[in-house]
Amino acid sequence: MEIKIRNMSKIYPNGNRALSDIDLTIPNGMFGLLGPNGAGKTTLMRILVTLLKPTTGEVTVNGLDLQKNRKEIRAMLGYLPQDFTVFTKLKTWEFLDYIASLGGLKNSKRRADAVDQMLESVGLFDVRDRMAQKLSGGMKRRLGIAQALIGDPKIVVVDEPTTGLDPEERLRFRNLLSEMSRKEIIIILSTHIVGDISSSCHNMALIYKGRADFIGSPQEIIERAQGHVWEITADDSQLQRIKERFPVISTIPAEFGYEVRVIADNPQDFRCEQAEPNLEDAYVYHIEKLDPEFVHD
Ligand code: ADP
Repeated sequence: MEIKIRNMSKIYPNGNRALSDIDLTIPNGMFGLLGPNGAGKTTLMRILVTLLKPTTGEVTVNGLDLQKNRKEIRAMLGYLPQDFTVFTKLKTWEFLDYIASLGGLKNSKRRADAVDQMLESVGLFDVRDRMAQKLSGGMKRRLGIAQALIGDPKIVVVDEPTTGLDPEERLRFRNLLSEMSRKEIIIILSTHIVGDISSSCHNMALIYKGRADFIGSPQEIIERAQGHVWEITADDSQLQRIKERFPVISTIPAEFGYEVRVIADNPQDFRCEQAEPNLEDAYVYHIEKLDPEFVHD
């Protein structure tokens, strides 16, 4: 599978420009869209799942134009929107069965098997007879991913799937998506949570103010931050000055003050040591370059 997005922009009817000149090629595997709230991720995803039309530009899926082949492309899609809710009064298994039949799984035996298998893999088999509306928050999210994954979609689009999940649920969710991504399919995951990307995505784009400012692997974006991450050992009197001068990633109380992790080129007037960047550092480093006000209050 391959999705190609060329020169795409989206301006909403009220004049809001949500996307500008997006050029992106998405191969098989898990692809992360990382960016803060309001960056344009949901807009991009809604265009990809044919719920919204771009203002300019085109999208092709395996060479098929998204606008001209909406029906074929919809049949390949699984989508978990950010605000997934179950309105219908159905049991958990009935809801999945219904979605699978909408997705074209007509044979009832095969559909029942697919539903059981999916309930197993998202850990909802034991509550399959519970009304879907009565599931806990975490279980509803799992049902959300199950309805996006059932029927063997070729493209799975999940918008902020781990928001509101506790750490255990979040881990389970990431693992489930990683397992799925071993197949020949595309999984697009939008998130503002760096850990979602670092633990699972092969490729990613950094989305900020409607632009894709970095496209590549998580390792590559981390490499670019090399040399720009420092750990300063500071006392109380220095802390405020550090915060004013540098974007601070973390402040950890230490024996005689604090260990402050910052993005900086050379904070030599403090007691400091260069640190090995991680994805969170790289994210802040890149956004800070685009918008110096981003991290500073
Ligand atoms: P994200 O998913 O990264 O939080 P969105 O795609 O939701 O970003 O939003 C991108 C920008 O588009 C924001 O400035 C937002 O206010 C604006 N926006 C989103 N939906 C609409 C809409 N229906 N009408 C007008 N502006 C919108």
